[in-house]
Amino acid sequence: MKTQKQIQSDYDVVIVGGGIVGLSLACELAATDFSVAVVERNELKAIADVPDCRVSAINRFALQRFKQAGAWRSPLTKRACIFDKMFVWDQTGAGQIQFDSVELGVPELGVIIENYVLQHILLETVRSADNISCFCPEQISSIDYQPQAGGQSVSTLELSSGKRLSATLLVGADGAKSKVREIAAIQRSQQSYQQQGLVCNVATAESHQNTAWQCFMPTGPLAFLPLYNGCSSIVWTLDEESAQSRMALDDEEFKRVLAEQSQYRLGEITDLSQRYLFPLAHGHATEYVRQGLALIGDAAHSIHPLAGQGANLGIADAAVLADVIIAAKMAGRQWSALHTLSKYQRQRKGANRVMEMSMTGFKELFGQDNAVLSELRNAGLSLVDHLPALKYRIIKQALGA
Ligand SMILES: Cc1cc2nc3c(=O)[nH]c(=O)nc-3n(C[C@H](O)[C@H](O)[C@H](O)COP(=O)(O)OP(=O)(O)OC[C@H]3O[C@@H](n4cnc5c(N)ncnc54)[C@H](O)[C@@H]3O)c2cc1C
Repeated sequence: MKTQKQIQSDYDVVIVGGGIVGLSLACELAATDFSVAVVERNELKAIADVPDCRVSAINRFALQRFKQAGAWRSPLTKRACIFDKMFVWDQTGAGQIQFDSVELGVPELGVIIENYVLQHILLETVRSADNISCFCPEQISSIDYQPQAGGQSVSTLELSSGKRLSATLLVGADGAKSKVREIAAIQRSQQSYQQQGLVCNVATAESHQNTAWQCFMPTGPLAFLPLYNGCSSIVWTLDEESAQSRMALDDEEFKRVLAEQSQYRLGEITDLSQRYLFPLAHGHATEYVRQGLALIGDAAHSIHPLAGQGANLGIADAAVLADVIIAAKMAGRQWSALHTLSKYQRQRKGANRVMEMSMTGFKELFGQDNAVLSELRNAGLSLVDHLPALKYRIIKQALGA
């Protein structure tokens, strides 16, 4: 990310953070009459031949928005693996549930894509938009945010290269440790799950069948997400101690333990990439908006990755924020005013909070090594599998409908 098409310093919207969520908002605003700048501190790494370990399950809603914004035309979309089934089972019993796109009457449930490849795809659209400038890699030296009650606020950002940008709307898409949130003095709850997410890519003896596999076990969920090259990306949630001991295993032993724990659902593990750990936490900002300021994505909320929804919620934030400010501008209203931005907060905060609480509840329910709970869980999974209406309601939420 490097181009600065217009040498200008005054922007309608400055987005701090060019992760998946910040770039999603930039794509939403491409080809509108907003002038937009994206400031990202890290250079995006070049596309490598082998798949990266950080991947996301991107739902149908997000895919549709990318398609509408014209971002899903890139040849890089070949790196996205369509999944049309989801299979969830409980390791401690016979409970299982399956979601199938055919049953739901949709062409796919979503795609699994490497995070940085998705960023490249979104960036292609952003780069080709005349109304967007990218400042990357660029550190922010200071942000001067002076809200004007009732009037139009203007924030000024000073970059380490010496450039100064002004923004009518400052958007924090800068992740869980958001500087924009800090500048606006918005509080955020933060709670560690005391768990780590162990991620790596694996080759398996049996095909992944374009299915997202998820096994709930007392130690935490283990997901196998299908990749475009036939391999799978795993996300294994473990308590701190188990995570360290699994990391310490040599490759052969790790492959054996992983195959055993996944009950050989995809057969033996035949190959393995490097393994990485990510500490897992959840948190929520008390507010998403201020006069002339909005938070989206992980800057506003983060959840347990067990249902692969964090990035999807952020992409939905970006879509709703864009809809709200575009509609307000078209109607000649104060598009960056608190009362306008509050509409975005009203639409997203409740939905994100429900998802955060559901993930925490799931984690507690499936994290119990208790015989009674285990029986209830297993009966519940199988029961829902036989109740199409309830099953449909659950999957609709996961698809972002
Ligand atoms: C193990 C694991 C698996 C996951 N799997 C899934 C999944 O399958 N599906 C899903 O939807 N979600 C998943 N998630 C969640 C998802 O990864 C995050 O919710 C999502 O990446 C958040 O995106 P973001 O753009 O809001 O924040 P980030 O990805 O944190 O991006 C923030 C960006 O801002 C930049 N930045 C920060 N500070 C500054 C600054 N001062 N100046 C300039 N730039 C700055 C950073 O460099 C970064 O590029 C998973 C998470 C984990 C931990």
